[in-house]
Amino acid sequence: MNYIIAIGTNIKKEENLKLALRRLSERFTIVAASSVYESEPYGYQAQPNFYNMVVKIETDLLPEKVLDILQGIEAEAGRVRGGNRWGPRTLDLDIVLWSEGEVETPRVKIPHYDLKNRLFFILPILEIEGDIPVGGETLFHLARRLLPYQAIKKVEFELA
Ligand code: ATP
Ligand code: CA
Ligand code: CA
Repeated sequence: MNYIIAIGTNIKKEENLKLALRRLSERFTIVAASSVYESEPYGYQAQPNFYNMVVKIETDLLPEKVLDILQGIEAEAGRVRGGNRWGPRTLDLDIVLWSEGEVETPRVKIPHYDLKNRLFFILPILEIEGDIPVGGETLFHLARRLLPYQAIKKVEFELA
């Protein structure tokens, strides 16, 4: 099975991005990785810009097990929960898509509930997956609608 995992950070961005990629590659097979994008904060504006990217992973684990691992990695990065949900964070790992389709449990909903509104999910997924359909539209259409409103750019980032 494959999952698309979104990585976001706006505190110690380089360090946390590298930590996330290292830990993800230890736990899963990474089959594709997008470029790194810089985006303006979403939801709560008064905070630093984010680095965002997505990776496609291969695993036999079910969504809640994957989420357990992601939350363990967030904790290692020093993620503090509470306070402003969309405030600054060292590391945020979201499951955006799953090869097996849709799922909803008290802990995990896939596809990510806000995928169609977030260019920082859509552009990196477009980059690695192409123009796939999501919820009756395609990524390209979603992107075209959001591009006037959400500032995002690719950044040069040496992942090694
Ligand atoms: P947002 O969910 O709007 O992107 P956030 O990522 O900052 O905000 P978190 O505090 O990281 O929110 O997560 C809140 C809860 O969302 C988690 O405890 C988790 O159980 C739940 N959740 C539901 N679906 C998913 C998913 N697809 N990926 C990650 N977490 C999810
Ligand atoms: Ca998130
Ligand atoms: Ca999250």
